Amino acid sequence: MNDLFSLNEQSRQQLDGIFAISMEFLCIIDERGGIMKSNRVWETKLGYLTPELSGKNLIDFIHPNDVASLILALKKLSTGNESLTLTSRLRSNNGFYRFVTWQFQWIDGLIYSCAKDLTELYHAKKEAESAEFSKNQLISLLSNELQEPLESLSLFLQLIGKTTSISEQNICLENIRLSSEFLENLISGILANEKSNQTGHDVIAFNFFDTVEDAIIPLIVSAKRHNITIDLAIHPKIPPTVMGDPQRLKQIISYLILNAIKCLERGKITIEATPENTDKTVFKIYFNLKTSGIAHFKGVSDDPFSVNDTNGNINENNLNFGLELVKTLVETMNGKFSATRDSENGYEFAFHVLLLRDDTQNSKSDHSMSGRVLPMYNKNIRLKAEELLAIEQIRYDQAKSYDQTLTKKRPRVLVVDDSLENTQLLAQALVENYEVLLANSGKEGLVIVQQIPTPDIILLDLSMPDMSGYEVCKQIQLEESTMDIPVIFLTSLSDTENEAYGLRSGAVDYISKPFDIASVERKIKNQLALKHYREILSITADTDALTQIPNRRRFEEMLSIEIRKARRNNSPLSVIRLDIDYFKSYNDTYGHLEGDDCLREVAYALKKTLKRAGDLVARWQGEEFTCLLPDTNLKGAIHVAENIRKAVLNLRIPHLSSPGEKVVTMSLGVTSAIRSLDNSGNDSFEALLDQAQAALIKAKEAGRNQVFAYKK
Ligand code: GH3
Ligand code: MG
Ligand code: MG
Repeated sequence: MNDLFSLNEQSRQQLDGIFAISMEFLCIIDERGGIMKSNRVWETKLGYLTPELSGKNLIDFIHPNDVASLILALKKLSTGNESLTLTSRLRSNNGFYRFVTWQFQWIDGLIYSCAKDLTELYHAKKEAESAEFSKNQLISLLSNELQEPLESLSLFLQLIGKTTSISEQNICLENIRLSSEFLENLISGILANEKSNQTGHDVIAFNFFDTVEDAIIPLIVSAKRHNITIDLAIHPKIPPTVMGDPQRLKQIISYLILNAIKCLERGKITIEATPENTDKTVFKIYFNLKTSGIAHFKGVSDDPFSVNDTNGNINENNLNFGLELVKTLVETMNGKFSATRDSENGYEFAFHVLLLRDDTQNSKSDHSMSGRVLPMYNKNIRLKAEELLAIEQIRYDQAKSYDQTLTKKRPRVLVVDDSLENTQLLAQALVENYEVLLANSGKEGLVIVQQIPTPDIILLDLSMPDMSGYEVCKQIQLEESTMDIPVIFLTSLSDTENEAYGLRSGAVDYISKPFDIASVERKIKNQLALKHYREILSITADTDALTQIPNRRRFEEMLSIEIRKARRNNSPLSVIRLDIDYFKSYNDTYGHLEGDDCLREVAYALKKTLKRAGDLVARWQGEEFTCLLPDTNLKGAIHVAENIRKAVLNLRIPHLSSPGEKVVTMSLGVTSAIRSLDNSGNDSFEALLDQAQAALIKAKEAGRNQVFAYKK
């Protein structure tokens, strides 16, 4: 039937040798698949002993779904095809399959077969695919998750913006607003890119200048941190109002700047916008973004071009993710994007977009705009150093408290509902992410809400037999310790007409029965995020951003409260004014950043030295501080001041250019007042600050590093 056994001795030995050393599945079969010879790989990888195999049919070891193609292959081989390849699954002794690619060779009535094992490769590929899928899913999920609180934040800021009037707060709010809007844009960009969403874009009339500025301003903080200035030059010929998609444009510009910031250690980013054919209905605006300064490459991933081309030309396939996104976005605006690396010191990104002239507007009416060439961001006209720090602080606090919520405690949700069924349902749904407290009546709810720690949020049934949800809510809002807890009403359909009344009674939101658990969780999450931001904002309004001690606003507020108290109780009240000695020359010698560090250290020492609960130390301005000591007479205040002076001296912060001590020292002016009855109408407390200042000046004149008390 075959002449395998008629091989001469030498050929047989050669064949045995090949069978012995090969790592692949080898076998020789007849035209029907009968196995005549096989190698040991069948044993090591599949668990079949060689004698077991001989006489069996190869077909029996193949996955049933692959059998047909094997039979077809055998047929082809026996009818003239000399060689064939085929991929199939090969069953091992324990029932698992391995993925193999067969190479069959027909020689003299026998089929010499070799199968290469691709199982690992196959699994690796599958894993990579599934990892890629999970990654995309995660990005999408994360982005969606982020988007919700951001939207709430924007909304909240709009609301709060209507009521606040303090300018510092407004600047902070404006910056948070821009930053969150910016983040929202980033996220929608990522989402759009990830879904390859080419569904077109908006064409609306928008203010070109504002849009470009809005894209840049939120990045100034980040740029500053990298010692990078941003210059923007907008050609005066660009009409102020144009038509197109402002969101896309913002995204493109922001991504590009982000990329540029990433690859610069310090230097400058220059952005120029130049128009072409503005008299036509459709016109182009060319953007050119150049970086100059010191580039830095921490790793390949920081390089905007993952593969370098020595000519400085960038292979478009080698753009990293961020730039890839920009390119896609530019293309959706019917534009073109290009990137080049300057041989010496920077990158140049160029793109143009097509925009429509806005004929609905009389562009002459906006005359002042054409004068706006080169708004100088490097001068930071919009943001002062302190404001930048305030924003950074907010971000830092957000990150920190987010960490804390992750690691420390789960938010506490109090559910108040007389229906056991409802409380159980909510408890089951929420228990994974929240600590759930349950109350089955309004009264019970009011008891739990007073316990410490107080709940972070309350879900409150509107209709309960003992007292209505409105009533419970009102009580909660009367108590100072609970008034800030957000309350969400649980309403049945029949309650809907009462919603307006409910909102006025202080609830922040509604959940209608029957519950949609996903929406319950979303609403809770949103309200908790808002509560969190409210807390951050209220802290930052009172706190000095650099030193993290109370600011002047807080000091003045407390001073007037303490004056009223002192009058009422007939108690003494003392004030200290403090000023670091020769601080200007400290800055000149060690630089402003060291100066800032010194201020932080001093502030911390002051805070630590004040031990009594009512004492307050605040940063007044620059290197000046103030202390408020309630219920403290002059003697006591001088004692405290002396302790502070020593504490600062003992910090031993080197100050070599100081004419006095070669370490940082402080001068202090102290004064004290008590309600005076005999005074000719002048209130003894009103002059406290001036008196302390006068004493401080005396301390300076007397040689600094000393405490001086005000003498009447
Ligand atoms: P004197 O002993 O008379 O108080 O001299 P001085 O140099 O401390 O006083 P002066 O008021 O002339 O200078 C205060 C300096 O404090 C000016 C400024 O350089 C510095 N300064 C003010 N605010 C800050 C700040 O926030 N950070 C830093 N690093 N320096 C500041
Ligand atoms: Mg001063
Ligand atoms: Mg000073």
